[in-house]
Amino acid sequence: MSAIDDLPPLRDVIETHGLNARKSLGQNFLLDLNLTSKIARQAGDVTECDVLEIGPGPGGLTRGLLSQGARRVLAIEKDARCLPALAEISDAYPDRLQVIEGDALEIDPLEYLTPPIRVAANLPYNVGTELLVRWLTPKEWPPYWKSLTLMFQLEVAHRITAAPGSKAYGRLAILAQWRADAHIVIQLPPSAFTPPPKVSSAVVHLTALPEPRFPADAKVLSRVVAAAFGQRRKMLRASLKGVAPDIEDRLIAAGIKPTERAEQVPLEEFCALARAVAQK
Ligand code: SAM
Repeated sequence: MSAIDDLPPLRDVIETHGLNARKSLGQNFLLDLNLTSKIARQAGDVTECDVLEIGPGPGGLTRGLLSQGARRVLAIEKDARCLPALAEISDAYPDRLQVIEGDALEIDPLEYLTPPIRVAANLPYNVGTELLVRWLTPKEWPPYWKSLTLMFQLEVAHRITAAPGSKAYGRLAILAQWRADAHIVIQLPPSAFTPPPKVSSAVVHLTALPEPRFPADAKVLSRVVAAAFGQRRKMLRASLKGVAPDIEDRLIAAGIKPTERAEQVPLEEFCALARAVAQK
């Protein structure tokens, strides 16, 4: 019996079901249920929410979420070897855990979820950033999710939460912070995982804002920011040349010095520039 439920400890689960970690699937498991419960608590009040979990593996975070009272958990797992272990969790929490075998990049979870929805995951590193970008760029805002509580390599977590003037500040920070609050809530050393990865990790909690922090067209903002950070060492008047022929005038109209570099420009000014670029 474990510390948080009547199911066996995760080391036993892994042994019983032969779940030796596979690098190709980004498998670095969390086996400490106190830690997975701590991560689950960072997801906020889940008692009245459906929670989408990507990559439950042997189910450490899944058990954390269910023991925190999640109304329902929908877990998408690519590795069929994990399904019997997850079925045991399903049996212990009747009608509260649905597991779908498949690739999270190809499954539309909305078919299975009822709002309000929170997302929580110890993501496979190889698909983590791609999923985050998808969650941050839905067709309409606000998105279907209230919050995202996600594990990343520490370096990626810094890129999501970075402030202007830092090396980590770039497209991901702007994308995340334009329409969400984003904070690092837990930092973890490699030794927290089995097997330990090479780098440290962090849990980032993002809360969707009801509307963007500053008005801008999403596509124009994305184009401007991609061009600006694509050549981050250049002055904006050079890196943004391809965005509009009269870019210097538009930079000035947005209150930005054309000699500035992308790294120094706060989100609010990028949004002003996107508006200036969008003007006929
Ligand atoms: N959540 C578990 C934990 O905390 O111990 C496992 C985390 S492990 C870092 C990532 C999990 O994602 C693995 O179980 C892996 O099989 C699964 N996975 C990898 N790629 C996936 C994909 N494209 N879609 C769904 N699951 C995936």
